[in-house]
Amino acid sequence: HPRNRTTMEEQSLMASGAVVVWHDVTETRRLMAYAEAEQLKDEFITIAAHELRTPLAVLKGFAQTLLVQTARGKGAELAEWQVEALQNIDQATSRMVDLASDLLDVARLQAGSLLLHFEPVDLIALLKRVVTRLQVTTECHTLTLHIFTDHFVVDIDQQRIEQVLTNIIGNAIKYSPLGGVIQIDVDAQQQNTVLVSVKDTGIGIPEQQQGQIFGRFMRADNALNEGIAGTGLGLYLCRELVERHGGHTWFESMEGEGSTFYLSFPVSSSQKAVASAELSLS
Ligand code: ADP
Repeated sequence: HPRNRTTMEEQSLMASGAVVVWHDVTETRRLMAYAEAEQLKDEFITIAAHELRTPLAVLKGFAQTLLVQTARGKGAELAEWQVEALQNIDQATSRMVDLASDLLDVARLQAGSLLLHFEPVDLIALLKRVVTRLQVTTECHTLTLHIFTDHFVVDIDQQRIEQVLTNIIGNAIKYSPLGGVIQIDVDAQQQNTVLVSVKDTGIGIPEQQQGQIFGRFMRADNALNEGIAGTGLGLYLCRELVERHGGHTWFESMEGEGSTFYLSFPVSSSQKAVASAELSLS
């Protein structure tokens, strides 16, 4: 080729040029580090909570054995203050066992490793059991249960929903004054949902904090000011667990007047079949 003429290839190369793209990865790196830290934190909580549960259960077991044996008049006789001290140890270890279990559940939910075992369960029978158990532990509150039918089957993880119901009804008791009445209703909503509501006349939730009340470790100011013990993990777990059942959790509340918490569950196909059979019989 003559020196002063460019080839076709050279011409096309000259025309194409180059594009340089600068990509700032600072933000991506920051997010990755954050995700890694979160994962490490979840792993740490899981290990710590798991390791704490066994010694705490042992502690609780011995405190209870001592209390029972003393009550039966076996072994050395204890002074009143010693019995009270043992009761305090028993209650404090119970709270720590519960906290360790809640932390473990939170970490499992975050890591997506909390497994649910669905089975057809009679929700009415479950509610009756929970209400009876909680009524025995609280002499100063009255629990009332209104049911619309004697049996109602839902596909749920029985243990987990028992935990949810215990937490919601337990809160209603805990945040109500002595002598308070807690009203629990269960009703079939439209066709596909069953609704459980728990109404109390307790301290209520301040309006400005209602939007965050299902957050992890969230506790309302009035609960803190009243010195009522809690961790702020229960409602977070309840909402997550109910949602993993395809249901919903919400509430209405007025500070100083009371709260009503609602739990809705989808109705199982077996229950729908029973309901339509009853309909066609009547
Ligand atoms: P905890 O009761 O252990 O603090 P929860 O997650 O169950 O944790 O509840 C979070 C917060 O929501 C409580 O600390 C309290 O401020 C508020 N709360 C929950 N239930 C009620 C209720 N029935 N009445 C008033 N406040 C409530």
